[in-house]
Amino acid sequence: MPLATDLEIRGTDGVWRTISVVLALPNKNRKPMRCIVCKGHIKLHDAARDGSQQAHVEHAQRWPGCPRSDAYDGNGVRPHPHRVPD
Ligand SMILES: [Zn+2]
Repeated sequence: MPLATDLEIRGTDGVWRTISVVLALPNKNRKPMRCIVCKGHIKLHDAARDGSQQAHVEHAQRWPGCPRSDAYDGNGVRPHPHRVPD
């Protein structure tokens, strides 16, 4: 499965926007962020120093209902049970 490299971030105007993880990393503890597809909580990961892994997004809690999760079961998108609210 390809790594997710974009996410939703809520601006100071309250609007959710899609941005790349590279642009989001400097704000990672300051602004609400969530998975674009299931709206679940996410963790941001920097690129590995040795180049083995690019910067990417992971779900804070694995979710079989999201194609962006490594736990995806292939049965379609379902909203994450622990969503970040609008
Ligand atoms: Zn998701």
